[in-house]
Formats: sequence, structure tokens, C-alpha cells
Amino acid sequence: MGNIKDYAIATIGSHSALQILKGAKDEGIKTICICKKGAEKIYKQFNVADELIVLDNFDNFEKLEDELISKNAIIIPHGSFISYLGTNRVQNLRVMHFGTKEILEWESNRNMERVWLKKAGLRLPKIFNTPDEIDTKVIIKFHGASGGFGYFIAHTAEEFYERIKGYKGKEDYVIQEYIIGVPLYLHYFYSPLTDEVEIMSFDKRYESNADSIGRIAAKDQLDVDLKTSYTVTGNMPLVVRESLLPEILEMGENVVRTSKELVKGGLFGPFCLETILDPNLNFYVFEISARIVAGTNPFINGTPYTWVRYNEPMSTGRRIAREIKNAIMSDRVEEVLG
Ligand code: ATP
Repeated sequence: MGNIKDYAIATIGSHSALQILKGAKDEGIKTICICKKGAEKIYKQFNVADELIVLDNFDNFEKLEDELISKNAIIIPHGSFISYLGTNRVQNLRVMHFGTKEILEWESNRNMERVWLKKAGLRLPKIFNTPDEIDTKVIIKFHGASGGFGYFIAHTAEEFYERIKGYKGKEDYVIQEYIIGVPLYLHYFYSPLTDEVEIMSFDKRYESNADSIGRIAAKDQLDVDLKTSYTVTGNMPLVVRESLLPEILEMGENVVRTSKELVKGGLFGPFCLETILDPNLNFYVFEISARIVAGTNPFINGTPYTWVRYNEPMSTGRRIAREIKNAIMSDRVEEVLG
């Protein structure tokens, strides 16, 4: 039987690191936090890192690899980890990595992601290949627009051509059906050890300035010539109508089953479906994150759903550590690495 004392859990200090490291410590696993200079303060103050490694930047992250390997560190990827290193560098890491790396390509490519989600039988907002096909309200999304800055809404081809004039040189966009409804982010965990998809939690985002526009009258909005942006500033916890849970669970199960047809090992560990729920209670999925999302951060002490299941505080970060611990103790570590 493997011993958890021989391993460490490591991640970059940002995004959901507090939750990941706290979860690892709660499971009795050593923690390593790799920080950009300045960020170490937080991880020191909250006392979640047994070891802190401070770097000027992440350009030389790979230089650390031999040290991490010698410590039997298992890297937990999160959104900032992937965005700092880029999917290519993550693919080439030699250090142990929780989760299947190949699925990250499917997640980060908008076309591949659609193929995956469609194959899983999920409802997606329609994509219009040319502006002339626009026959309903659409959202124009520019690739790499951090925080959705500059996205705009149109209802007709004419309106599209008029508004796109303000975006000279920006040809990399997608025209997507705009769904009127509430954004709802669904958090899951799939255990390859038990072959079960678990509902973990739900959140909604607090986005600036999308969430502040309704605070002023329509006339004032027009007067100050507002442009909507969706920069995420934080996340708010949610519980959903209980009658929606069976469908939500099925959606997660379908995504996992399909992922196994796409890449060896499929998707496992935490993941999130980003959806809009319309007034007829139809879920439209506009994105998937194949890793822990920051929307799980309000739940470091557990969620209503994990409380029912585990009867102890169980965050997504802790659930990851629990999976690793179970894998080590049953000599199945290979099954949670990718
Ligand atoms: P990324 O992670 O690629 O930066 P994101 O997760 O911020 O993207 P986007 O797809 O950029 O999400 O969408 C930004 C915002 O626009 C989200 O808050 C979402 O609520 C809203 N949105 C996205 N797609 C639609 C849609 N088809 N209909 C209605 N609202 C949408």
C-alpha cells in the first residue's frame, strides 16, 4: 500500500490555490506552492503551503521540474496555471500531473469543444457561419478578448455590419445565438477510481460592467455610451431548483462518457459546464472547463451538495486530494495522472 507521506501536492499560487492547498493539507498531504514574486504573502498568511517556491516569472518553470519530481510532487492544474504556461508547455511537463493533458486541447479550441459537447448530446447556442444568416439576436465574441471586452449584440445582418465597423482589424470572432436566460456554472467531479460523476456545486459570476449596467436607467446607459464587458471579478454561490439535478447530472455523465471516445483516459477530476438557463428551463452550454474553476472558491468549507454526500467539509480542492489519497493508498496512482 502506498504512503501519502511520500507525495506532495503542488500548484501555482493563484486562481484556486488556497482551496487546493487547504484541501491537500486536510487530507494529510504535503503542499508546495509556486508563486510569482509578490503573491507569496497570501499563501504565507493563510498558512496553506508547507513549502513556498518564489519565481520572478513562470518563464523558467521547467527548471523547477527536477526538484518537483524528486519530491514526488503531483501538479494540480487550474485556470491560471494553464494560462501562465500555455497548453503546449503543460502537455510537455514531466512532473506528475493530475488529470488528462490531452483533453485540455479539446477544451481550449472553440471548434473542438463544440464537437465534444454536441457529441455529448448537449444543447448549444447556434453558430452563424456568415453575418448574412443572422435571423435572431446574436452575440459577437472576439477570440482572446479578455473578459469578453468588446463583445456586442446584434439582431440583423444590417445591424451587425454597422456595429462591426468599430472593430477594424479584428476578424477573429464567432457569431453565436444570444440566449436570454441566467448564466449558471455547473461544477462536477468525476472519479476514475469509482467511475462516478459527482455534483459538487454551482456558481454565478460577478462581472464588470455587465452586472452593473442594470443599476442605472436605460436613458443613462445610452447617454454614457456604455460598452458591455464581462470581466470576472468574483463568484457567487448558488443552489438550483432540486428538480433540475437529474438533468444536470446526466449532462455531466454524457460529457465524461464522450470524452473517453476523444482521448485516451478521457476527462477526469473536476470540470465545469458554463451554461445559460432559459425561462423554459433549457440549458444552453457555451463552454466547458476541463479542470477546477474559480467558481468553486466560495465553497472551501464544502457545499450544500458535498455536505449531504460526505458529512464533512468537502471542497473541490479537498475532493482532488481525497482522490489522490485513495489512489495512493490503493496503489492506483497511475489512474489519476495524465
Ligand atoms: P473565456 O473563458 O473564453 O474567456 P468566458 O468564460 O468569459 O470566456 P465567454 O464565452 O467569453 O465566457 O462569455 C462571456 C459572458 O457572456 C458570460 O458571462 C456569459 O454569461 C455571456 N454569454 C456567453 N455566451 C452567451 C450566449 N450565447 N448567450 C448569452 N450570453 C452569453
